[in-house]
Amino acid sequence: MNHFRFLARSLAALALAALLGTTLAARAQTPIVYSVKPGIDLANLDPTCKACDDFYQFATGGWQKAHPIPAAYPAWGTFNVLNDDNQNVLHEILEDAAKNTGAPAGSNEQKIGTYYRTCMDESTIEATGIAPLQPELDRIAAMTTPASIITESGHLSTLGVGAGLGLGVSSDQKDSTKQLVQISGGGTGLPDRDYYLKDDDRSKAVRAAYVTYIATILGYLGDDAAKAQAEAQSILALETTIAQATPPREELRDAAKFYHPTPFSDLAGVLPGVDWPSFFATAGVPAVSVVNVTLPDTIKAGIAQYTAIPLDTWKAYDRFHTVDAFANSLPKRFVDASFAFNGAFTGAKEQLPRWRRCTTAVNGALGEALGAVYVERAFPPAAKARALAMVNNLQAVLADDIKGLDWMSAPTKARALSKLAAFTKKIGYPDTFQDYSALNVTSGPFVVNVMRARVYQDHRTIARIGKPTDRALWGMTPPTVNAYYNPTNNEIVFPAGILHPPFFSDQNDDAVNYGAVGAVIGHEMTHGFDDQGRRFDEHGNRDDWWTPEDATKFTDRAQSINDEFNGFEVVPGVHEKGINVQGEAVADLGGLTIAYKAFERTAEAKSSVKREGYTPQQRFFLAYAQVWASQERDQAKAAQAQTDPHPEAKFRVIGTLSNMPEFQKAFGCIKTDPMVRAKQCQIW
Ligand SMILES: [Zn+2]
Repeated sequence: MNHFRFLARSLAALALAALLGTTLAARAQTPIVYSVKPGIDLANLDPTCKACDDFYQFATGGWQKAHPIPAAYPAWGTFNVLNDDNQNVLHEILEDAAKNTGAPAGSNEQKIGTYYRTCMDESTIEATGIAPLQPELDRIAAMTTPASIITESGHLSTLGVGAGLGLGVSSDQKDSTKQLVQISGGGTGLPDRDYYLKDDDRSKAVRAAYVTYIATILGYLGDDAAKAQAEAQSILALETTIAQATPPREELRDAAKFYHPTPFSDLAGVLPGVDWPSFFATAGVPAVSVVNVTLPDTIKAGIAQYTAIPLDTWKAYDRFHTVDAFANSLPKRFVDASFAFNGAFTGAKEQLPRWRRCTTAVNGALGEALGAVYVERAFPPAAKARALAMVNNLQAVLADDIKGLDWMSAPTKARALSKLAAFTKKIGYPDTFQDYSALNVTSGPFVVNVMRARVYQDHRTIARIGKPTDRALWGMTPPTVNAYYNPTNNEIVFPAGILHPPFFSDQNDDAVNYGAVGAVIGHEMTHGFDDQGRRFDEHGNRDDWWTPEDATKFTDRAQSINDEFNGFEVVPGVHEKGINVQGEAVADLGGLTIAYKAFERTAEAKSSVKREGYTPQQRFFLAYAQVWASQERDQAKAAQAQTDPHPEAKFRVIGTLSNMPEFQKAFGCIKTDPMVRAKQCQIW
């Protein structure tokens, strides 16, 4: 089950951890420079707009004017700025590690340095071409029956290639102490079913770009142009059949829809047409007694295709998806084809510098080895202690808030309070960093290291089967500019990467820290009680602990938020889908409300002393809005509205604040102002 994050992972694509047995050589360190200075930057404001007319424009209009979107980015905002700042630190660490030929073989420094160096070594990548993937392509070429294609998808899943049936491991929703093997279907290359099924111009353009991409890749593998084009159309048709059997996104917010524990001995009856023991063996998964079948109807529809369509289409499908999964580790023509296709969702005009892409790659493969060095440099113990103190403050305030709710009954309040008190709080980085001793990183070519890293990760995942849930694991690396709530662990997690300006600084006044990182902390806490999180109890088990009356009252309130967000137009003709963004919108409103109540307890809030012309309360809301200073390309906005549970940044400000009397009072807004909703929603 997904973590409920603060923002889309793609926007925070970065990040990383502790050195087991080795430390990096001591080096002269340049001071870390953050682009955003602590406090409120008045230059970010647009004083020509009234705060009560459009607070987003008022608080961030100046920033937007001064910060056009760089060509290589789909969007540009303060999250990206901090992400790039963190990446600059990682870059320095990696350049040093790559140059240090004296690092002991097998040490984390050797691994991150070599991984990075082989990624940067474009001449070897070009010279080697596709050769390292040839054994995989030969396996696919050797398939002669539908059964062998199915078995091959089990093998491909060990390399991180999503091609048809897949296997995963996750916490048992009903007993979160256990890890359950799960079967998933899918294998579609576009990020949402609607891209296959809708006939608007945008969806048609995405499909056309996808067909071009598939045909290009198959052409690079040696198929002539006409054959590659025909294969691409057949693959699109195959994936469209699977998309038709996939429920729409809004139906997938219900975790119960993904939960069908099935005895292994019954699998052949529930999902006929597959030799399950062979499939599991090929995927390297040991014998288990129970398997979770995530979406049975979707999986069945996928299995039916193995016999319904020609073998050659499946072979082309497997070849394309295998190469696509490694495209960014291959010669330039593959990277360029992948970039051109992704442009349909990003609108980016050029590729990121190679060192940024390689830094991201090391973060993805060896994130906790790189992150360990990062936190040593960028996140001292004092910062961790301050962040934890803020988390504790907000937790106490949310408890008081729940006690005082007029719409929730005493029995539900008691359960909510015990859930809140049971939150696990993870700040900065894991107590114990991941052990990479089983991952061998060699002199290349790069794609070989990528394949090894995927297999290493797959083995780690499979090793969880049959063992108690390890609640110490982290789902993000330390430099990540993001945060999450994980319902099956009932935990809130704040990586070191987000605990820097403009979110957090010991040089900020309380108004700024509470309005910025306080809102992030409150947001993650509130996820424990949103439309998805509220279905899990204090132990992380899916359990309905709400009285029916309280559940109805919650749902009615959340519906008002849905209705509000349905009204926001992202690009002409594309609106936010309230039902899909409600969890995030509720968490924004609840989180900021709790952060504000916590701020009100500080000496600064009680002082009424203005700084830079603004009251403490006004500074709190300015800090919140400035975190969201951002601009996005139209392609990125449309893709976010279709595939991402997070609303656009602008609406996270306007939608949230227009429901908050505290904001309206701080800026003296009146009933008829646009930033004051006639009917204001309040949940927490
Ligand atoms: Zn969130």
